[in-house]
Amino acid sequence: MTAKPAAAAARATVYGYPRQGPDRELKKAIEGYWKGRTTADDLREAAAGLRRSNWRHLAESGIHEVPTGDFSYYDHVLDTSVMVGAVPERHRKAVEADPLDGYFAMARGTQDVAPLEMTKWFDTNYHYLVPELGPDTVFRTDSAHQVGQLREAIALGHVARPVLVGPVTYLLLAKPAPGVAADFEPLTLLDRLLPVYAEVLADLRAAGADWVQLDEPALVQDRTPAELNAAARAYRGLGALTDRPKLLLASYFDRLGDALPVLAKAPVDGLALDFTGAAAANLDALAAVGGLPGKRLVAGVVDGRNIWVNNLERSLGTLGTLLGLADRVDVSASCSLLHVPLDASAERDIDPQILRWLAFARQKTTEIATLAEGLARGTDTIAAELAANRADLTSRAASAITHDPAVRGRTAAVTDTDARRSQPYAERATAQRAHLGLPLLPTTTIGSFPQTAELRTARADLRAGRIDVAGYEERIRAEIGEVISFQEKAGIDVLVHGEAERNDMVQYFAEQLTGYLATQHGWVQSYGTRYVRPPILAGDISRPEPMTVRWTTYAQSLTTKPVKGMLTGPVTMLAWSFVRDDQALGDTARQVALALRDEVDDLESAGTSVIQVDEPALRETLPLRAADRPAYLEWATEAFRLSTSGVRPDTQIHTHMCYAEFGDIVQAIDDLDADVISLEAARSHMQVARELAAHGYPREAGPGVYDIHSPRVPSAHEAAELLREGLEAIPAERLWVNPDCGLKTRGWPEVRSALKNLVTAAREVRSGL
Ligand code: GLN
Ligand code: ZN
Repeated sequence: MTAKPAAAAARATVYGYPRQGPDRELKKAIEGYWKGRTTADDLREAAAGLRRSNWRHLAESGIHEVPTGDFSYYDHVLDTSVMVGAVPERHRKAVEADPLDGYFAMARGTQDVAPLEMTKWFDTNYHYLVPELGPDTVFRTDSAHQVGQLREAIALGHVARPVLVGPVTYLLLAKPAPGVAADFEPLTLLDRLLPVYAEVLADLRAAGADWVQLDEPALVQDRTPAELNAAARAYRGLGALTDRPKLLLASYFDRLGDALPVLAKAPVDGLALDFTGAAAANLDALAAVGGLPGKRLVAGVVDGRNIWVNNLERSLGTLGTLLGLADRVDVSASCSLLHVPLDASAERDIDPQILRWLAFARQKTTEIATLAEGLARGTDTIAAELAANRADLTSRAASAITHDPAVRGRTAAVTDTDARRSQPYAERATAQRAHLGLPLLPTTTIGSFPQTAELRTARADLRAGRIDVAGYEERIRAEIGEVISFQEKAGIDVLVHGEAERNDMVQYFAEQLTGYLATQHGWVQSYGTRYVRPPILAGDISRPEPMTVRWTTYAQSLTTKPVKGMLTGPVTMLAWSFVRDDQALGDTARQVALALRDEVDDLESAGTSVIQVDEPALRETLPLRAADRPAYLEWATEAFRLSTSGVRPDTQIHTHMCYAEFGDIVQAIDDLDADVISLEAARSHMQVARELAAHGYPREAGPGVYDIHSPRVPSAHEAAELLREGLEAIPAERLWVNPDCGLKTRGWPEVRSALKNLVTAAREVRSGL
């Protein structure tokens, strides 16, 4: 590594920052406004205060160019819809009456109008509001959000760079508006949209923007030649504008592949590229196109999506290589820091040794500033930081936490036979039928029953020491008793204990597994004012003792009907946690799978005949690039089978999935070799049942007949109709009757009526068979 000044101009920057504030002040301010406790001005002031302190923090920690426009009351894609005037017809009145309330109406709906649909932002756990467009969409420029934030930052003395969702990504993320033909392609609106972007760029330049960043993460997905041509055309057009700031074209979350030459050739002034994880392939691809002569390169070398300290020396190596490929190299995180918690130093309960391995947004900005400093003024100037970083990395690599010989030995010894049931499905099905004696079209639920205010209060009381463990467990026992007795009375065939004791389906297990860490303040925005605290897979994973056996057997002791054991599967445990970056995901999945396998085996030994291992996240962790999917599905399905294959043939393994179209993963669903799968299906009129049938799926399935995302109670007639539709695809011997998902977010009155109707429907359809 060179010690002499290498790139005098290297600057540090980021594309976005956590919005919530150290104490989730933004959530409180927005929810206070919704409840009418505070005024719009209070909200605006609170938001401006948070922006001010974020920018000040960034500048003080050595970030030369701060982002603006990334801050949002709800979502930056919704902000973009407002910026281009893409307000759906049904929200127009609300927006005209009051822009702020109209904005929240688009985000959350009102009594009378549905909100925009929400979906995951690429393969992150952040959700954006899906733009609704059609051939009649008329775009109109509203640059207030962008210009306002830019002016604020400039007035505070910052060098600021507005960050916008780029026009191509915006259109690729959109869907046809209600009433528009399903095959309408929003990208056909590009030529109408570009003039709006041109106006926004002119406004931003007039307001003092030297550079503007346009984010095009959609280009890291597999794109057709036509889509790539559209991108080329868009940036030829925007690049040719005379009245514009310098344009920085950004991509992240994966490698650009075929899009890289397109962007490299575009007449813009710089590219911001991700060089972490799979996107590290951008390095060779950039060299192959001859680099970016005459352009600025912003190098995302600090992982913006994970919480581990950066390997500063390795990053400096990458930056050094990049210096030969562009006119000027600046340093950043791979993507907006929105996806990581704010500040690791706020954590009081994490072992100080482990805390040094962690970098949340604040720590990452320091890393970025350090790297820029090293790049600009030589590594001697950051010798102390490099030494400390080396010590942290060594301590992590050498730690007993990350290297448990017992776990390592066990995972290394896994054979293919361990991940296979001892008998094929057909034979298991016969054994299970004899063992369980269930009726045709058996009824069940997905696991959770309402998480009532009383349950949440009990947990808060326990945390605050107002009640002791015995007092808390008494309340859980009482709740389980109610849940069992309700299900018996309702006539459900396979019961659940209701998950009253679980705060969250991942955290509950993370807290009990060795090698997993929970945070106190590690909030990350999931959508709007909803924040989650993903646990951290920090070390080798093992299960010191049974996690669910006690409550499951207690529930079973109250009834003669089978009670289903309930676990979260290995893929979902990984998907909703921060994962290790020092070993392959498949290896972490295998460790979690073995810990779950012990639990499955213990449940069986304790007399549980039906065990469900939930994998709602199987589809959502699918890699962005199709080429990476087979390898992912290979380890993911193996991990599931590893966790469920230790049981006898007559023990019935269920799994559950939701949130997705399943069409493209039916083979993977088949490869799980679960005896029964329950899936979300009510809204799509049992579409998934037809998809399974078309594939020749041989096992039992319960496509949901009760949409639990809505407080609406389906009538028995409606549920029966859905069941009959299901029967057209799946024969009665293999069809189950259940809701779409768990009932934890619903209230008891709706759940009572809905489940009674569901049982009535099953009985009615059964009697007609
Ligand atoms: N068993 C879980 C529940 O019922 C499943 C939740 C999920 O699929 N997200 O709550
Ligand atoms: Zn679900």
